[in-house]
Amino acid sequence: MTLQEAIEQEGLLFSDGGFGTELQKLGLELSSCGDLWCLTHPDRVAAVHRQYADAGSSLVSTNTFNANRFALAKHGLADKQAEIARAGARIAKEVMAGRGWVMGSIGPCGELLEPVGPIQPEELRASLRVQVGALLEGGADAILFETMSGLDEIRLGLEVAQELHAPCVLLTGAFDPTRSGPRTMMGVRPEQLAKAAKEGGASVVGANCGRLALETDFLLLLERLHAAVGLPLMLQPNAGRPEVNENGISYHCTPVNLAEIVAPLASRLKILGGCCGSTPDHIRAMKARIN
Ligand SMILES: [Zn+2]
Repeated sequence: MTLQEAIEQEGLLFSDGGFGTELQKLGLELSSCGDLWCLTHPDRVAAVHRQYADAGSSLVSTNTFNANRFALAKHGLADKQAEIARAGARIAKEVMAGRGWVMGSIGPCGELLEPVGPIQPEELRASLRVQVGALLEGGADAILFETMSGLDEIRLGLEVAQELHAPCVLLTGAFDPTRSGPRTMMGVRPEQLAKAAKEGGASVVGANCGRLALETDFLLLLERLHAAVGLPLMLQPNAGRPEVNENGISYHCTPVNLAEIVAPLASRLKILGGCCGSTPDHIRAMKARIN
């Protein structure tokens, strides 16, 4: 069954949770390039995918969230973009063979587009073509645009995914609470994200990461995303709100707590996983609670 068919037919699918934090447990330093581990430590990247598959994730995301030209250039790795993305898809695909599907992860490029920022749309389009193309070459079953914030970047990404015939496309935005309801950092409302998803040919729309209060805001967000265009919904929340302390950022929502909080939302969702701070144990607990 293809992922697209599973989305159309099956009930709730479980995806994976935080990745960077799991790689840090295996020795990744905070300031280094985690995506490069697809080339230098493929065994450890595979180990994280395997932990999630063992916890019950039938969908995993590749370790390629930052594999865009601009983020890689900061580590002097811009010329490795295709190699990293291709390897990331292959590693995940090998682990998930016979167990589920691989979403090629693409996060925001980290720069603002002209006229607000320094990046020209054509530069971003070129980077996206390499990233999407290499993920598909490596065997990704879908492209997941995640933690997205700006509509111009979202539209470009969806356009490139269509142009390169991605078999399935998923789009999730990172929403924060504002006085006028949930919005992304660039001010995008849930309805705008959902409309862009539909117009750009995505099969699923949803939310990941962000600073919304799990207990109150997610239900409203999901209702608004769904009411706008009726696409199936995906949710990958952080393990609670991020808290900044002297050791960096931490997340305090335990697996059991997260499972209790998301359980009432499950009937509205097609795909449920986690984002920053969530672990294989969070996925296991959510799956046990909901099933
Ligand atoms: Zn996150």
